Amino acid sequence: MNDNFCVFLDAGHGGVDPQGNYTTAPGKQYQHNSGGFHNGGWFYEGVWNRHLMAKVQEKLQRLGIAFIPVYHDYLDFPLSYRVEQANWYFRNYRRGIFVSAHANASGVNARGFELYTSPGVTASDRIANYMYEEVEDLLGDRIVMRQDLSDSDYDKEARFYVLVRTVMPAVLIEHLFFDNLNDARLLMDEEIVDRFAEAQIRTIIRYINTL
Ligand SMILES: [Zn+2]
Repeated sequence: MNDNFCVFLDAGHGGVDPQGNYTTAPGKQYQHNSGGFHNGGWFYEGVWNRHLMAKVQEKLQRLGIAFIPVYHDYLDFPLSYRVEQANWYFRNYRRGIFVSAHANASGVNARGFELYTSPGVTASDRIANYMYEEVEDLLGDRIVMRQDLSDSDYDKEARFYVLVRTVMPAVLIEHLFFDNLNDARLLMDEEIVDRFAEAQIRTIIRYINTL
């Protein structure tokens, strides 16, 4: 059923290099007043995104579903290079999806989970609806679910590069707000990370079953 299907995995931004330096722009980190994050009080979004996507890779491996990461271990590859890799490798498959993992920051203490797809109605909207339902099912009692039902689906729409330049259906996930202390603590909970990874897997399986 999953023959010729590939999941292209994108963990947003850069990570921590071998010298211990966080490689991404200042907006992709936040210093909380107390510790317990990636570097004392510092929450590094790119590190969290990589941790989540490593779990997703483990689960896909167990299921025998093909996947290709398009991000570097710690460098912040340009979005164009990430998308170009996915679009090239997609020539080797007939079906696939692109999943971009992020955590959010608002500067105004917002909380919650939200999903983005490109404008218009595409297969991406169906995938985003599956993902919204799976996250709600796995985590709905612990996190805030943010939705935009104005166009009769759960996701928000934006012309993000990875959504509009990919040739396969694509979703971008904003997993809670790392500059909100409560959300940031939830993101550091390993069971919650596992449940977010699980939601991606269940979404992928549901989508494969419709092909
Ligand atoms: Zn991000």
